[in-house]
Amino acid sequence: MGVAVSPIQIDSRVSEFLGKTRPMLIDGKWVNAVSGKTFPTYNPATGEVLAQVAEGDKADIDLAVKTARKAFDSGPWSRLTSSERGKLVWKLADLLEEHIEEFATIETLDNGKPLTVARAADVPLAVDMFRYMAGWSTKLEGTTIPISVPYTPGAVYHAYTLREPVGVVGQVIPWNFPLLMAAWKLAPALASGCCVILKPAEQTPLSALRLGELIQEAGFPDGVVNVVPGYGETAGAALAAHDQVDKIAFTGSTEVGKLIVHAATGNLKKVSLELGGKSPNVVFKDSDLDGAISGSASAIFFNHGQCCCAGSRLYVERPVFDQVVEGVAARAKKIRVGSGLDASTQMGPLVSQEQLNRVCNYLDIGASEGAKAVAGGKKIGDKGYFVEPTVLTNTKESMKVVQEEIFGPVVAAIPFDNVEELMPRANDTVYGLAAGIWTKDISKAHRLAASMRAGTVWINCYNIFDAALPFGGYKQSGWGREMGKDALELYTQTKAVCTRL
Ligand code: ADP
Repeated sequence: MGVAVSPIQIDSRVSEFLGKTRPMLIDGKWVNAVSGKTFPTYNPATGEVLAQVAEGDKADIDLAVKTARKAFDSGPWSRLTSSERGKLVWKLADLLEEHIEEFATIETLDNGKPLTVARAADVPLAVDMFRYMAGWSTKLEGTTIPISVPYTPGAVYHAYTLREPVGVVGQVIPWNFPLLMAAWKLAPALASGCCVILKPAEQTPLSALRLGELIQEAGFPDGVVNVVPGYGETAGAALAAHDQVDKIAFTGSTEVGKLIVHAATGNLKKVSLELGGKSPNVVFKDSDLDGAISGSASAIFFNHGQCCCAGSRLYVERPVFDQVVEGVAARAKKIRVGSGLDASTQMGPLVSQEQLNRVCNYLDIGASEGAKAVAGGKKIGDKGYFVEPTVLTNTKESMKVVQEEIFGPVVAAIPFDNVEELMPRANDTVYGLAAGIWTKDISKAHRLAASMRAGTVWINCYNIFDAALPFGGYKQSGWGREMGKDALELYTQTKAVCTRL
């Protein structure tokens, strides 16, 4: 399989943005790192340097936390009405919507995903997220509570709760949906009245930095949002450990999630985590097989399998196993892999050399464990980080490729005989992020949905996201839910006020 590459004219605003070393946003100003250091971000389609970015570390995090603290404790932000706050978040959504093409291009260049996908999914979903959360800023209410207090007979009280922002929030985000993950985290934090230090992934810092410019244009007071790019072990770790940070929100690997939990113990800051997955996608013989086949292919191949909720374990009822696997493999073979900028591309490169090595390593492990690649199985070419969409058979639960998160376009297909023997196997994972079920039997589908130990269950669909629908993990897939009104729980806390009348 070759890699399609055709030259494309890049918007002049984007070339200008990439042409200069990108500084970081602290206290409303664009500044270099205290150390003066920069780091390169790469174009995964070519392996070439795309831009240089200021490299934040502990010193920059300290400055950003100080300014966020000031903005939260005594700045104009804390005096805005909830309606004024909501309007700013809405304005940010409008500005982002006006720049869809520019953001989609930045995302494609930095992450590798097809421009058609960034334009149709990543950026519009980010816009929706800001709009959805803007509406919540005026609806964060407490309650009035009748209390009885048995040890003060005859006393009368007026008791109520206030819903208050948690304060200064550190947000560490991954590289698979760089802008969208920034929106998932920033939107509820800002709607709730928090101040933020956002650390984008070192592989993909550009869209968050451009978003920082729009945040300023929208009119957020200085210091409310600070964007500090840098490496995880330095900038990210400093943010997670900082004793002036009230809460840390993280999306990334389960391994790093555990480090974040440890780092947060110093001041017992609140922690929310959206981590890895190894999601079961179950196809029954009574499903609409065409829909199930194309849905199962997209469950694993969307975003090149670089989705924490990817349907990477494909369980198929034995009588239709061959048919479904052949169908998914045929789709895998037809996927046009190439530069994300090419309009015909359906799958771009993986995000980095490291990620390519990781996926190829799993392909080798799978082969040595006895798995058979009925589609794909190899890296493509030697320029850029391309890998073939891969379907593995001859797999079983004890194999690494069935247990561990590959985070690439690799699905392990496994037959099952009935629901009773399927369920323990489907749940046999340390993860619990998502699951898919394909069947026309509605009561079976809902019974199974209830038995899945997963934060999201898709029935006759997969990878359906909406700003209103909560997303997050059971087991080692995370703590807390993002999106929907559940996300506001992560950024607010309840104060009980009790008055004796
Ligand atoms: P991946 O392995 O897929 O790159 P990671 O979980 O390492 O995913 O990265 C997700 C985010 O976590 C990135 O922004 C990264 O910089 C950050 N990160 C990595 N290590 C740490 C750490 N020790 N402390 C805080 N953040 C980290």
